[in-house]
Amino acid sequence: MVKIGVLGLQGAIAEHVRSVEATGAQAMIIKHKEQLDEIDGLIIPGGESTTMRRLIDKYDFFDALVAFGKKDKPIFGTCAGLILLANQIVGQETNHLALMDIKVERNAFGRQKESFETELEIKGVADDFEAVFIRAPYIAEVGPEVEVLATYNDNIVAAQQGHYLCSAFHPELTDDHRLTEYFVNMVKN
Ligand code: GLN
Repeated sequence: MVKIGVLGLQGAIAEHVRSVEATGAQAMIIKHKEQLDEIDGLIIPGGESTTMRRLIDKYDFFDALVAFGKKDKPIFGTCAGLILLANQIVGQETNHLALMDIKVERNAFGRQKESFETELEIKGVADDFEAVFIRAPYIAEVGPEVEVLATYNDNIVAAQQGHYLCSAFHPELTDDHRLTEYFVNMVKN
């Protein structure tokens, strides 16, 4: 059985554990970098990217997370997790893990639309996925190796680059576990 880690520093941790378990895979909350050796794939949850980055540095996770990705181990970043994976953040000079060739805009849906739900078509996953957005980013630009999986009003909200997957919305908050299952299958293959 594949073992999926959920980075356990901040954010929607328990919800991802529930979603991973619903797909039949094993979930493990990752609180120490040494635990990365025990898992086959990692989810970086939604939350607050600046806070999560501070905790990544505080608990000495940074190099271990980059090395995990460079070893071709799959990583799925959702919302704040997507921001952590991006190599460019609009309006910021610094980035975080920079594992995906994407340019992200934080809090991109503005004040009126801080949180909303909508039905999305996600390539290879579903044509009726109920997506929950919470102070979400979107992807403004992608590099040539990135495949766009979903858009909302022409804004990119899910993408894949080889063994990296990201979504601007929260796939773990409903009972629709198809995107989590898509990631689990990426890990299995
Ligand atoms: N707005 C948050 C950030 O910039 C992300 C929101 C989320 O993860 N739901 O980190």
